[in-house]
Amino acid sequence: MILMVMGPPGAGKGTQSKTLVDTLSIIQISTGEILREAINNGSRLGLDAQEYLTTGNLVPDELVIKIIEERIVLPDCQNGFILDGFPRTVEQAIALEEILKNIGRTLDKVIFIDVPEKELITRLLKRSEIENRADDNLTAIKNRLDVFKKKMEALIEYYNKKGILKFVDGTGGTEDVNKRICKVLGI
Ligand code: ADP
Repeated sequence: MILMVMGPPGAGKGTQSKTLVDTLSIIQISTGEILREAINNGSRLGLDAQEYLTTGNLVPDELVIKIIEERIVLPDCQNGFILDGFPRTVEQAIALEEILKNIGRTLDKVIFIDVPEKELITRLLKRSEIENRADDNLTAIKNRLDVFKKKMEALIEYYNKKGILKFVDGTGGTEDVNKRICKVLGI
């Protein structure tokens, strides 16, 4: 199974993907995590991406597309994978479709985790006290939400047309959200 989890910053994409990893025995690929790791390692990719992440802007399409292109051909992706935070633009979605086509695979479902904006800001500010993410400050959070809103509609339309998009209520406890996701996935 190949899944994509989308939703605004703070919706719980990472948390829910990690739970699904255990349930489905497939791996999670988070472009945000890969980029943060690259920044921590001081690699070329990290240097190129740093400015975008700190300000809460999207890194250029070609950078993330290359990450995905190289990642999904590795052997641990054979059973399937969960894309967390990719694609975020229609250009990325088109590139993904092409990459998957080249290896004879298709995206099965896209889960949109829906959470009201007010709760997102509360969640992200709370997270900033626990984790030390450079982009969990109010200015970057607001920008991430704006960036998301700008790109979201076109992406929703893209996957709606393909008939693979499922909306899930992302409020409440993480276990409740997981149950709702499992229900729409039929697992
Ligand atoms: P969140 O959804 O909470 O913003 P992520 O970890 O998914 O958290 O993303 C963090 C940052 O990483 C984004 O603000 C952006 O700068 C960068 N990023 C992650 N995925 C992508 C992507 N697919 N395209 C462009 N930038 C990305």
